[in-house]
This record gives sequence, C-alpha cells and structure tokens, in this order.
Amino acid sequence: MVVKRVRVKEHIKTLRESTKTICDHCKGTGREPGTDEKPCSVCKGSGKG
Ligand SMILES: [Zn+2]
Repeated sequence: MVVKRVRVKEHIKTLRESTKTICDHCKGTGREPGTDEKPCSVCKGSGKG
C-alpha cells in the first residue's frame, strides 16, 4: 500500500503547484525587487499574488 500512498501525495503536490499564485512584483521571493530587507509592497512579503 506504500505505492498508493505515494501516488496520492504526488497528486496533492501537483494540485498545489498548479493552483498556487506567485506575486508578479517580487516573483515569489517576498522581497521588494532590488533589496533583501524590504518586504514586497504588493504581497506584503508572502510571495503570493
Ligand atoms: Zn510580492
């Protein structure tokens, strides 16, 4: 049953990958472009759009 469990896990992972949204401003880094300190002003540092 190990194989079956892995398959389900992979499916959930694929689902998450396809539904996640990345912030266009910081490209998902959560940092204001050009700086490593300021959080992104668009996504507030979450990296999600
Ligand atoms: Zn951002």
